[in-house]
Amino acid sequence: MKIIMLGAPGAGKGTQAKKIAEKYGIPHISTGDIFRANIKNGTELGKKAKTYMDQGLLVPDELVVDLVVDRVQQADCEKGYVLDGFPRTIPQAESLDEALAKLGDKVDFAINVEVPDENIINRMGGRRACVGCGATYHVVFNAPKVEDVCDTCGEKLILRDDDKPETVKKRLDVYHEQTQPLIDYYKKAGVLKEVDGTVAMEEVFQAIVQVLGA
Ligand code: ADP
Ligand code: ADP
Ligand code: ZN
Repeated sequence: MKIIMLGAPGAGKGTQAKKIAEKYGIPHISTGDIFRANIKNGTELGKKAKTYMDQGLLVPDELVVDLVVDRVQQADCEKGYVLDGFPRTIPQAESLDEALAKLGDKVDFAINVEVPDENIINRMGGRRACVGCGATYHVVFNAPKVEDVCDTCGEKLILRDDDKPETVKKRLDVYHEQTQPLIDYYKKAGVLKEVDGTVAMEEVFQAIVQVLGA
């Protein structure tokens, strides 16, 4: 089962992707998490990616495509995977399709988690990310047991720099311009599934499970 998560920044792609990965026993591949791990480890890729991420811009396609194409060919991806945050541009989607076609493969589901822009700014202001394991919380909708402490690993929770309102606005513009066209792209490919992302997390997940048919 090869699944792609589509949706605005803060729509809940990561939250749902983790639940899908757990239920179906497939890896959750988040390009945002991969970049943040590279930034934390001070790699060359991390240094390059950070200059774009801090401005709310997309990292150039050439820095992300090979990385994902390599990742999906690793042994743990044989049964499938859930891609979160990739593709984000039409050229990225085309590169993925080409690479999969060479392997005799294709995307099975593109799940669009629909949340209007008005809801996004509030969601992002309340998002907290763990500096240790990358787990995501929300101060109201998914609060940790102890304020600002990760339930899983005990490390500190922070507001991501790019989740501050100015950068979120920029990221939404970038989303509408560069990523939203993917909805049509996957509709044409016959694999698009839309779910309402404004309802409670568990309800969104139930809708996704229905779509995936298991
Ligand atoms: P969110 O979960 O809020 O949508 P991500 O964690 O997926 O954000 O991404 C954070 C940032 O990492 C993006 O704003 C962008 O700069 C960069 N990024 C992540 N994935 C990609 C991608 N596929 N192409 C280009 N840039 C990306
Ligand atoms: P994305 O990966 O699309 O950027 P996240 O999964 O990180 O989005 O979710 C963004 C924020 O909104 C997080 O703080 C998360 O806990 C919260 N969130 C996710 N889904 C919901 C929901 N259905 N209702 C309310 N808050 C949500
Ligand atoms: Zn943690």
